[in-house]
Amino acid sequence: MRDDTPNSWESRADSYSLYGFTDLPSIHERGAVIVTHGKGPYVYDVHGRSYLDGNSGLWNMVAGFDHPGLAEAAKAQYDRFPGYHAFFGRMSDQTVMLSEKLVEVSPFDRGRVFYTNSGSEANDTMVKMLWFLAGAEGHPQRRKIITRINSYHGVTAVSASMTGKPYNSVFGLPLPGFIHVGCPHYWRFGKDGESEAQFTERMARELEATIITEGPDTIAGFFAEPVMGAGGVIPPSAGYFQAVQKVLKKYGIPLIADEVICGFGRTGNTWGCQTYDFVPDAIISSKNITAGYFPMGAVILGPDLADRLQDASEAIEEFPHGFTASGHPVGCAVALKAIDVVMNEGLAENVRTLTPHFEAGLARLAENPNIGEWRGKGLMGALEAVKDKATKTPFDGKLSVSERIANTCTDHGLICRPLGQAIVLCPPFICTKDHLDEMFDKLEKALKKVF
Ligand code: PLP
Repeated sequence: MRDDTPNSWESRADSYSLYGFTDLPSIHERGAVIVTHGKGPYVYDVHGRSYLDGNSGLWNMVAGFDHPGLAEAAKAQYDRFPGYHAFFGRMSDQTVMLSEKLVEVSPFDRGRVFYTNSGSEANDTMVKMLWFLAGAEGHPQRRKIITRINSYHGVTAVSASMTGKPYNSVFGLPLPGFIHVGCPHYWRFGKDGESEAQFTERMARELEATIITEGPDTIAGFFAEPVMGAGGVIPPSAGYFQAVQKVLKKYGIPLIADEVICGFGRTGNTWGCQTYDFVPDAIISSKNITAGYFPMGAVILGPDLADRLQDASEAIEEFPHGFTASGHPVGCAVALKAIDVVMNEGLAENVRTLTPHFEAGLARLAENPNIGEWRGKGLMGALEAVKDKATKTPFDGKLSVSERIANTCTDHGLICRPLGQAIVLCPPFICTKDHLDEMFDKLEKALKKVF
């Protein structure tokens, strides 16, 4: 709760900081949670209160908040060589090693990697690559980007245009040429009497109809998160990616998997596309790539796009794009360590081990008459609050029910995320069954208080 004494942390935060993605009336009343340190899956605030972070920071702190190996990897690289870019014909040894590693662990037998500082920039970069190819290959009209309603791809002008959330209209977005097709959430958008297989077929048919209406030779690419994250943890309907990829292949449109959340173990496999059994043309990675210990994003191109980008770049002598900190050596050293920690120190395995317990906890809480659906994959899950379970009628009101539940959880020492009318959980991979039980017990208390 807020400390209103003059010069309190909360007052200082309110006076000098701008909050992004924050309900301001609520934060003025409650005060921000100002965090000083963390231990395992817990974070601690300036008042010494502890919170189990059921959200892994922002889906990314998969190894918890005090992993010694990751801090050591950063420190060792800062001591060796603190920073550099990856262009003008130069890059650090760490960047070379990370690119090899990313291609090795990717679903591609060959590929190339380009670095950014964030997931938004990685999506932006991928769009610019597709536009660059369109020009270089003699199809300058091939510029439109298709994504899905409810998707989240970032906040830069391009990645926000890709994002399928209505709030971006306050910026006058999306930009022209960014098209949103249906969200594959069968429970919410399936029609009466429509089977899941029929729903999936309809999604693919609607995508094809959009491609034809827009003109197949005007479409540069289709981007999709294997499991939609910020849309409220929405796994695709059965067979969705197979059906969609068939349509895209028919028109020669690349499928880009935005694996910013799903990548590196979240859904139980290294990549979400492996969980859903498809091979995309490129992967967008960020967040877990460094287990959240350094800001970094990466575009991993599969063989076809990698060869074409290389050929096009050679034809005009360069690909004119890059960020000052692209391929930062500390970020690369941390990423190499994070990949090792997640894949070889049992963290990815722990996701698979914990998944049945996680799902059982979600299913138990979904027995509440005001929870319409539980859904999830691996260690990402959601509970959807409804006013009426039978009719799936959502709650209305300014401060959503999910926000009230999340605020109550915070009061009980649990951080979880309200997204639309859903409460979202995505705990760090280092959690134990006891941590999950603590998370579900606290959430259950909050549900009882709010409903
Ligand atoms: N793509 C997905 C799927 C994301 O979930 C996010 C962030 O949550 C992004 C892209 C944007 O990443 P960033 O916040 O690092 O710019």
